[in-house]
Amino acid sequence: MSNLKILIVEDHALTRFALKTAFEDDTPNTIIFEAENAQKGFDILEKENIDIIIMDLGLPDIDGVEATRQIKAKFPSKKVIILSSHEKEEDVIKSIKAGANAYCTKDISPEKLIDIVNSVSSGAAWFDPKIAQYVLNAAAQKGSNESEIKQESIDLTAREKQVLKLITEGYTNNEIAQKLDISINTTKVHVCSLLQKLGVQDRTQAAIKAIKDELI
Ligand code: CA
Repeated sequence: MSNLKILIVEDHALTRFALKTAFEDDTPNTIIFEAENAQKGFDILEKENIDIIIMDLGLPDIDGVEATRQIKAKFPSKKVIILSSHEKEEDVIKSIKAGANAYCTKDISPEKLIDIVNSVSSGAAWFDPKIAQYVLNAAAQKGSNESEIKQESIDLTAREKQVLKLITEGYTNNEIAQKLDISINTTKVHVCSLLQKLGVQDRTQAAIKAIKDELI
């Protein structure tokens, strides 16, 4: 990764130091900024052209979810990686809805975190498989309460919306084909077109986006 500007928003000094050291050792081209609360983070974002924010959830002023929401409202192109001490399902879902591009826990290795920074900076979303499962669960619950499919700004056909809903409920292509009484090839065409329209790489990301943007 070259010349990325990374802002670490974290009230715990030792964690900030560990993160800064890891980036400086392994990615000497990155420039690290530090803030011990959300407000200081906002001040830095106003002044510096930050690419990626590594955001703690438990901060002394406003929590990391709210800070993420405000950052994304003001600077939609900036990427936020939540770095949390836990993976409570509720916080994961809230973070995704606030616009976080990744969610990881503090027991992650520095190498893995640097990998995630790289993927997020190139435009991908990253959620570990356990977290992706929470998202799928939330989608399934939502789906069972609501049979109507909402209108949204991404222009999906009625069939694509049906397919997307089934993807978020965890169905495979074969199962989707059976449920909708269409061929497996037609199903694959719909899935490809969906991924393209949503701008995502795979069905997990499609499910995450479907929840986040309330497409279903
Ligand atoms: Ca904290």
